[in-house]
Amino acid sequence: MKIGELLERKGPQPVFSFEFFPPKTPKEEARLFEAIAELRLLEPAFVSMTYGAGGAGARSVEWVGRIQNEVGLTAMAHLTCMGHTREELGNILEQLRGVGIQNIMAIRGDPPKETGGLEATQGEFRYAWELVAFIRERFGPAFSVAGGAYPEGHIESESLEADLRHLKAKVERGLDFLVTQLFFNNALYFGFLERARKVGIEVPILPGLMPITNLGQIRRFMDLCGASIPGPLLSRLERAATPAEVVEIRVEHATRQAIELLEAGVPGIHFYTLNKSPATRMILENLAGAVR
Ligand SMILES: Cc1cc2nc3c(=O)[nH]c(=O)nc-3n(C[C@H](O)[C@H](O)[C@H](O)COP(=O)(O)OP(=O)(O)OC[C@H]3O[C@@H](n4cnc5c(N)ncnc54)[C@H](O)[C@@H]3O)c2cc1C
Repeated sequence: MKIGELLERKGPQPVFSFEFFPPKTPKEEARLFEAIAELRLLEPAFVSMTYGAGGAGARSVEWVGRIQNEVGLTAMAHLTCMGHTREELGNILEQLRGVGIQNIMAIRGDPPKETGGLEATQGEFRYAWELVAFIRERFGPAFSVAGGAYPEGHIESESLEADLRHLKAKVERGLDFLVTQLFFNNALYFGFLERARKVGIEVPILPGLMPITNLGQIRRFMDLCGASIPGPLLSRLERAATPAEVVEIRVEHATRQAIELLEAGVPGIHFYTLNKSPATRMILENLAGAVR
């Protein structure tokens, strides 16, 4: 099933999707498939698996194929172009097509910090739009293609306007839909959506929520991707006396975010699960009582 077509044809019911990352050890692999088995019960419209920038994704084809063919969920493979040649990207896409994958999240990736930034990477493409154009030129409509979007602006971007201009150019290369970076404050998503529609970006924009429940991890993500966290939420999390209280605060906040987004008519919500099922499950259970 192509996700672009699913979003086009779906009725008023929102779609829920879950993102996972590639495991590094056999133990992590077992845990990943346990989390997928648990989250499968929530009937996601699709799940996605990130790609380790610079080629750490060699087994991604195998995992994403297993998720689709053995677990029976529509799977979207992320693919990053940074550090890859056209030929390598073409081969990976052929392999993905070979295992039945019809959905690609086309992403630039980030250069490894120690190698000296963008200029030093060996890849043939500098931006994600080039990967999108390559997929369309080489594979036509064989894949539904998605891209990343940043409600607070991408961390490297000189301005929100420039970022939006680049985003529009990326969409015009052939994206079917966008998924946003995580955000903790819905006003950022609503403002971004309005600006995107104003400049003529028409594709569905799925908000991304991360029900992350570890304060250290929240801080690391914020540093990495430039997402901001509302002061009152941060101080509540900092004051929490136990890990269980942190989970409770985070789940409660993400549930409120999800309810508000759904009431505003978003096409769906993409959950960054971090390969864990409990927090995402709790939020969706809360939603079942509220709006689903
Ligand atoms: C939904 C989502 C999924 C992700 N999945 C992964 C993953 O699987 N693996 C992974 O390693 N990382 C992933 N990331 C992180 C991503 O690699 C980083 O955020 C990266 O820095 C940007 O990727 P992009 O595809 O958005 O890049 P791009 O769309 O290429 O944008 C990157 C920057 O370049 C600018 N830009 C674009 N075009 C031009 C131009 N023509 N001239 C000048 N500037 C330009 C943009 O404004 C932006 O600042 C994901 C992010 C999101 C939001």
